[in-house]
Amino acid sequence: MEFESVIGLEVHAQLKTKTKIFCGCSTAFGAPPNTQVCPVCLGMPGVLPVLNRKVVDYALKMAFATHCTVAGESQWARKNYFYPDLPKGYQISQFALPIAEHGHIVVQLENGAKRVGITRIHMEEDAGKLNHDSGGPFSMVDLNRTGVPLIEIVSEPDMRSPEEAGAYLRQIHALVRYLEICDGNMEEGSFRCDANISIRPQGQEEFGTRTEIKNLNSFKHVEKAIYYEIYRHREIIEDGGKVVQETRLWDPDRNQTFSMRGKEEAHDYRYFPEPDLLPLVIDNPWMEAIQATLPELPEAKKARFEKQYELPAYDAQLLTTSRDLADYFETAAGLCPDPKLASNWIMTALLGVLNTTGKTIDQSPVSAKDLAELVCLIKDNTISGKIAKTVFEAMVETGKNPKTIVEEKGLVQVTDLSAISAVIDAVVAENPGQAAEYKSGKTKLMGFFVGQVMKKTKGQANPNIVNEVLRKKLEE
Ligand code: ADP
Ligand code: MG
Ligand code: ZN
Repeated sequence: MEFESVIGLEVHAQLKTKTKIFCGCSTAFGAPPNTQVCPVCLGMPGVLPVLNRKVVDYALKMAFATHCTVAGESQWARKNYFYPDLPKGYQISQFALPIAEHGHIVVQLENGAKRVGITRIHMEEDAGKLNHDSGGPFSMVDLNRTGVPLIEIVSEPDMRSPEEAGAYLRQIHALVRYLEICDGNMEEGSFRCDANISIRPQGQEEFGTRTEIKNLNSFKHVEKAIYYEIYRHREIIEDGGKVVQETRLWDPDRNQTFSMRGKEEAHDYRYFPEPDLLPLVIDNPWMEAIQATLPELPEAKKARFEKQYELPAYDAQLLTTSRDLADYFETAAGLCPDPKLASNWIMTALLGVLNTTGKTIDQSPVSAKDLAELVCLIKDNTISGKIAKTVFEAMVETGKNPKTIVEEKGLVQVTDLSAISAVIDAVVAENPGQAAEYKSGKTKLMGFFVGQVMKKTKGQANPNIVNEVLRKKLEE
């Protein structure tokens, strides 16, 4: 039987506010345990939460960027459960009336664009962190993260493959980074994802039973875990069994998921409206003020790149995957006469180097200005495309600018006709046999002659001139 997989993602993004959602404690990452806490985030009795307005601003930005409908009045809710990292015994979240609903984003896939629905976005506070590696027969708790603001972005079950889920997650990640509301650091846990997965026979409308994989913290893990889970569901169903609805975890060392707990239902959490906070009222001026701050988002930027720089859709898509990369390209394109050539060097040479060295664009060993200078040197025939590769490698290695490298290594392209002609004369004289063969019709030997000339000039002769002069000399 053919199965179709159905995937919905819940993404938690930590908001980049300076202070926590309901108190003035710092949100900075990496401080010694339990140094960024106060009676409010420790859940002491007799204290009251005070909402951080910036959290709402940031949630609104994401709501608008994902085409959601924003609620003029939303509500805080208590989600009750016991866990050692949750000192109050409940998490302040939103439930029945979230800040935003009914949105969507457009995800670029290999075979075209796909619209994925956003069910809702709500705000909530993060829990603390347990450290199980303390060495003793106990765990340590760090409450610095308690009360750090999060938004949860819940998708519709619209994705049909691990790749689609990966593309959706990357797009959400790009959006929070474009909006500068979350640092997107998955290793530090500021951007994490739960994946819900089910399968159903091809053509069936009703969804199958889903399982949920919690706390996936890299793009690679998300796709691998979903793959594994689809495979596991299929095995169970093909063996005549039934998938059990439950919460699972991903074990990256063994490349498999394992059961964590049975699925909890909403009523298990005894949600009720938070009595310590007023309903959240967002009026039109507030919404408009936030809308006015929205930056150019990936889709719009992509369209502009295609038009303004006459880039192919593929280039525009790739260069706008992150705001930093797009900015890098624009700086380079603004300084050189050929944006497409700049794009080529960024997409192949530069991204290649960043990939192999595990660096991001803002850690690039080559500045946008130097890359533009390299493109200029190619365009004005100072160096050939081939020599440019050597220069680029030296730029990566030494951090020097291309002009300096070209001068130091004497790599300037030879375009002097008489100098090139002299070399060609020598090469033809040294290879009388091949010259005769060429004249009798074996024109494929052209490549041989070009190679000889390039060798003698250490690759510095302008290839167009070499070709032209060679043809003349051999045919005279
Ligand atoms: P919770 O997981 O907190 O119970 P929901 O019931 O709203 O919350 O569902 C959360 C996620 O599960 C959403 O992203 C939704 O798209 C997805 N989802 C719901 N039903 C299915 C299903 N049958 N298969 C796959 N994903 C599903
Ligand atoms: Mg869930
Ligand atoms: Zn605090």
